[in-house]
Amino acid sequence: MNEQTIRDVVIVGGGTAGWMTAAALSRFLDNGVTRVTLVESEEIGTVGVGEATIPPIITFNQMLGLNENEFLRETGGTFKLGIEFVDWGDLGERYFHPFGFHGRDLQGVHFHQLYLRERRRRPLPDISAWSMSAVAASMGKFGRPGANAQSAVKDLLYAFHFDAGLYARYLRRYAERGGVTRVEGKIVDVDTRGEDGHVEAVTLADGRRIAGDLFIDCSGFRGLLIDGALKTGYEDWTHWLPCDRAVAVPSAYEGEPDPFTRATARSAGWQWRIPLQHRMGNGLVYSSTYMDDAEAERLLMANLEGEPLAEPRRLSFTTGRRKQCWNKNVVALGLSSGFIEPLESTSIHFIQSGIAKLIALFPDRRFDPVERDEYNRQMRDLYEDVRDFIVLHYKATRRSDSPFWDRCRTMEIPDSLARKIDLFRAKGRVFRDGLELFATTSWVAVCFGQHVVPDEHEPAVDALDEDKVAQALEQMRRGYQEVAEQLPTHGEFIRRCGPSP
Ligand code: FAD
Repeated sequence: MNEQTIRDVVIVGGGTAGWMTAAALSRFLDNGVTRVTLVESEEIGTVGVGEATIPPIITFNQMLGLNENEFLRETGGTFKLGIEFVDWGDLGERYFHPFGFHGRDLQGVHFHQLYLRERRRRPLPDISAWSMSAVAASMGKFGRPGANAQSAVKDLLYAFHFDAGLYARYLRRYAERGGVTRVEGKIVDVDTRGEDGHVEAVTLADGRRIAGDLFIDCSGFRGLLIDGALKTGYEDWTHWLPCDRAVAVPSAYEGEPDPFTRATARSAGWQWRIPLQHRMGNGLVYSSTYMDDAEAERLLMANLEGEPLAEPRRLSFTTGRRKQCWNKNVVALGLSSGFIEPLESTSIHFIQSGIAKLIALFPDRRFDPVERDEYNRQMRDLYEDVRDFIVLHYKATRRSDSPFWDRCRTMEIPDSLARKIDLFRAKGRVFRDGLELFATTSWVAVCFGQHVVPDEHEPAVDALDEDKVAQALEQMRRGYQEVAEQLPTHGEFIRRCGPSP
């Protein structure tokens, strides 16, 4: 602690991003010097969608010390074992992108390489038969991979579906208990300092002025500070990901919740289906160039399971990222930092990852550009890696039933993605660069599921005896099957965690 220690952190916005940040900072800035204030406006409200996550969210919750059963009760949460993709490779097809991994590597050779060779020798089931998460999901089963679990259950990796509004409220209570001050009010002005252009304070409609050393912009798509005040600029990726609208509606459903998200490709976008304990989350993401709003709403409502519980809600967005997520003394987190459609449920992860990087590179009042540049580099890489993985889903399709899919199938793609697809198509190779989020299992699932199948396997496979490999593969597959059969149903497991209020 010295005189340069940040004294006042001001978080602008109380959506998922604002309250995740507030909760994390209340946990990490307990130094007796730094105060954290969050400003939000009920009149403006939040985006209010964002219900599916990926496994690292478990680490975030654990870092806060949240009890997982309590978290599920508070947020109406369910478990998620992966995503079922319907009609993406071609109409009438489906595949599963599981969490965790496919099978076990043998003698340092990747499982999917063994699978590739074996599949040339004899017909094999889909590769998802070797994923504990996918097998359990296909049976509607769930089990926690705790320390005492059978070894195959340890291969089960999960995330959650939850009500993002309830999660924000839950974290608000946590953050306020940890000393964060919440201020209700609408920001109407942002003051910047003459000499360096740093943000000095925000002014509310009632005239109150809130000054700070460090500002976290969690104001959503509007980017009140990062863009409104600092004019940081935005990199638009619509030419690669043409969807720019969404319409969302919750619905009632009966029966057991599926332990997975479903993403069904439609004529100009795709529809999500996310089972929570108390309702189903549904929405259609689409391109306004190829589908108008009325048609999108009609399509969504026509494909709804169960009665709608609210009026459909329309949202517009521009896919891309802020040119700098950290500019001067403002760090943008959440939608103010950029947006990539929720096909692989990554937005909440961007928030979590941004928070972790901010804590790791937490500045003092001198704002060393080295720390800022490193933060921006890591966030840029994360955004670009996820972008490439999402573009893969659109590019690798055989669909030719609509102008939208014709465009996606034939579009130019980023060089970074073209290189990865070429490597995979040749011998099934996947390399994880740096901190890349999606690793081998993800690329294998999507590529196999969407007809990017390698011509050959890598040479290292040929050092392994074919019959022994065949035997090992069969043993693994049966092991996953038998363990999944013994697990409780997903619904039963949630009931044991305690019902949500
Ligand atoms: P918001 O929720 O918009 O919150 C902004 C906050 O800023 C609000 O509190 C608002 O009151 C405040 N504010 C704004 N202006 C002012 C002002 N002038 N004065 C005071 N306060 C102000 N993510 C996932 O991880 N999984 C998903 O499945 C998923 N699905 C999505 C589907 C769609 C269609 C969309 C659009 C997003 C989805 N997301 C998903 C993203 C997710 O919704 C967001 O990442 C998350 O909600 C964070 O939003 P936010 O907090 O950045 O912004």
